[in-house]
Amino acid sequence: MTTTTEPAMKVWIGCLACYNNGQLVGEWFHAIDADEVTLADVHRGSGGSRAGCEELWCLDVDDMPVHREMSPTEAAEWGRIVEDVDEHLRPALLAWVRSGNYVAVGTGDLPSVSDFEERYAGAWDDFNEYAHQLAEDIGLLADVPEEVARYFDWKSWTRDLAFDFTVEDAPGSGVFVFRNL
Ligand SMILES: [Zn+2]
Repeated sequence: MTTTTEPAMKVWIGCLACYNNGQLVGEWFHAIDADEVTLADVHRGSGGSRAGCEELWCLDVDDMPVHREMSPTEAAEWGRIVEDVDEHLRPALLAWVRSGNYVAVGTGDLPSVSDFEERYAGAWDDFNEYAHQLAEDIGLLADVPEEVARYFDWKSWTRDLAFDFTVEDAPGSGVFVFRNL
């Protein structure tokens, strides 16, 4: 098993009117707080907002599962979904989204946490380690005599098995394994 670190999802929220006037007015905020950020919060460093300042937008994102601009409302939804998941599972949830092979809620990009929990098969050194553990758990070679089992073709069994899974690098080292259902 590998250890993982907590994602620090942040968004740079800027004023669209100022941005369109060629002025970068904004600040970094935690994604989960994004929908509570006000015009005043964003303009604090620039002497306050002016007439026309109205809409806020996440112009840059850091450590978010999707790397694109988004509304503060969407950023906060990402923050809440990730916070709803047990802390030790958060990096795995983000990796699942990053893989692109994940189940989204409705028509958006936000991941379905229940589908994540159903598919997540743990953090491992590599897929090989997972495959060996799985073989043991299901008793793959349990009824096979030792002298036959030793000729079992692990390489090709593991290769075929891998088609039913999504494997994504974990932060630091190791991989996360997800079932393709
Ligand atoms: Zn402004």
